[in-house]
Amino acid sequence: MKNIILLAAPAAGKGTLAKALKEKYNLAHISTGDLLRDATKKQDTLAKKISDMMAQGMLVTDEIIYELLERRLQEEDCKNGYILDGFPRNIEQAKKYDEILEKLNMDLGCVIELEIPKEMLKMRATGRRVCKDCGAIYHISSNGMQPKVEGICDKCGGKIYQRSDDNEEAFENRYNTYLEKTAPLIDFYTNKGVLYKVDSSKDPEYTLQQVLKIIEK
Ligand code: AMP
Repeated sequence: MKNIILLAAPAAGKGTLAKALKEKYNLAHISTGDLLRDATKKQDTLAKKISDMMAQGMLVTDEIIYELLERRLQEEDCKNGYILDGFPRNIEQAKKYDEILEKLNMDLGCVIELEIPKEMLKMRATGRRVCKDCGAIYHISSNGMQPKVEGICDKCGGKIYQRSDDNEEAFENRYNTYLEKTAPLIDFYTNKGVLYKVDSSKDPEYTLQQVLKIIEK
């Protein structure tokens, strides 16, 4: 069983890497951002609260995340291992995650940190486009990452859109939140002896190959 946490600043390539690992090892891909985006589709006050927090690039309240995550970890597809993309986002969440794992009798596994310079992240975030239906990721100016037909997903024919938090202002907020709240997790997991660093500034295949070496070690 392989449980993997992907730790990285926004737009570093966590989603793309998670999708590739999911295909290779048949792992579940748990993106807390996606769980939240699904929760916003309901027309209730909680959905409105979550949408507002996400659109500003703020972190959503921990309690909401724990409930969504604990439920998701108990689904059948997680038994073979899973990739956590976007969680934990702060030390409190990491400590709570240890408790959840103990309660569910699951392993922490390993943590992969994706390293990439800020300017590159900003360019990736503002040019990122996502399929509304299958979540496939595109980029408007990266060779090989544009859809064949503008605005339409190559994989499923769904509509491609720009996430509400992929504009420059929300990116800056998300990046600052990452430095302040999430980056301390690097030391937290280094101290547990489970953290591996990977260069994510090149193409997705290069990133994947480095990660495969770590996982298969
Ligand atoms: P992501 O898709 O991982 O970039 O997440 C998009 C947004 O969802 C973030 O900017 C937060 O507003 C929210 N979010 C995702 N994961 C978490 C988390 N673990 N804790 C709090 N907020 C989160």
